[in-house]
Amino acid sequence: MQIYADNAATTKMSETAVKIMTDCMREYYGNPSSLYTIGQKAKEQLEQARAEIAAIINAEPREIIFTSGGSESDNQALLTAAINGKKKGKTHIISSAFEHHAILHTLKKLEKNGFEVTLLPVHENGIVKPDELEAAIKDETCLVTIMTANNEIGTIQPVAQIGEICRKHGVVFHTDAVQAVGHLPIDVKAENIDMLSASAHKFRGPKGIGFLYARKGIILQNLIEGGAQERGKRAGTENLPAVLAMTAALKEACADMEKNNKHLSEIRDYLIKGLSEIPHCALNGDPVQRLASNINFSFEGIEGESILILLDQKGISASSGSACTSGALDPSHVLLSIGRIHDVAHGSLRLSIGENITTAEADYIISSVKEIVEYLRSFSPVWRDLTEGKKDFIL
Ligand SMILES: *Cc1c(COP(=O)(O)O)cnc(C)c1O
Repeated sequence: MQIYADNAATTKMSETAVKIMTDCMREYYGNPSSLYTIGQKAKEQLEQARAEIAAIINAEPREIIFTSGGSESDNQALLTAAINGKKKGKTHIISSAFEHHAILHTLKKLEKNGFEVTLLPVHENGIVKPDELEAAIKDETCLVTIMTANNEIGTIQPVAQIGEICRKHGVVFHTDAVQAVGHLPIDVKAENIDMLSASAHKFRGPKGIGFLYARKGIILQNLIEGGAQERGKRAGTENLPAVLAMTAALKEACADMEKNNKHLSEIRDYLIKGLSEIPHCALNGDPVQRLASNINFSFEGIEGESILILLDQKGISASSGSACTSGALDPSHVLLSIGRIHDVAHGSLRLSIGENITTAEADYIISSVKEIVEYLRSFSPVWRDLTEGKKDFIL
């Protein structure tokens, strides 16, 4: 059996998106900035895609700019709020401890440039508390950036409440909605969102394309200087095949959203129930307020990486709670932020399931994980210490 359960890392492109992308490469090869008919036809397609994407999140077409994906959108949003804030003497930014590195590393850079950053705790359930956010706002606060849904533990943040608080205090609100666009309904007006980042490859579109929504009135700062594309806010010849494929994938994902989420959440809860039978394990993140596709467990006495290798041998692609950066195994900052200690965070497993998953596949995942955890524990020195009472169980 071959099961792809790493959709939070990236998704397989939908067949519709692949077709539209390749058709576009053949048909609309003109440069949208060119004045002749072939160029103008490409331009028309580009602007139609922009309007369709805008409509999906209740924005206006001019509030959408196309970027290379989530990381670029996050960088541009943060730079925009920082530069615009600094002009008014505001240099304080509020975010959360478990944002994506595209946010956290950009914040580190801003800190080195004189900005003060407050990272709100996300508590044991992986959710920011709106009253704590409101209490952290100061006169100097120029930006609140909180993700819509977390990419590791899938928890969904109270975005509408955060938006309301930010609007009340006149603070710009950005949300990294990369895990949410195409998976959850989004209304930037109703939720008082000023800027939002999205990436196509997280909703079955192509890699290397995404968009940034910026409410009109927000003057975007460029990351990339050059030509006047994207109203002068993002230079470079537009990647029309990717834009059209992204738009098709998003329309498809939104049309099927309710149906997909119903099925996914049933299988998710089935997997959570089955995996919970493993002794000394715990679900990471709130059991209810989470993406329908996300299952994340920590198992005591295990190394996450070894689970992945053995799962791969059984045909299951999943992800762990540690990131192998430059040879060193660092436990995930997300798992640490919800209070998991290093040892436990290391033995973690993220399954991000796709909408075509079946109950038989879920059963296969459960039996495989059970078998692998038991096997790894059989020769784990940490597990031996725990069972011999030399160390205390945490989970
Ligand atoms: C994947 C992801 C990103 C980065 O998006 P890219 O398009 O790969 O640059 C940013 N934020 C979150 C929450 C993500 O899941």
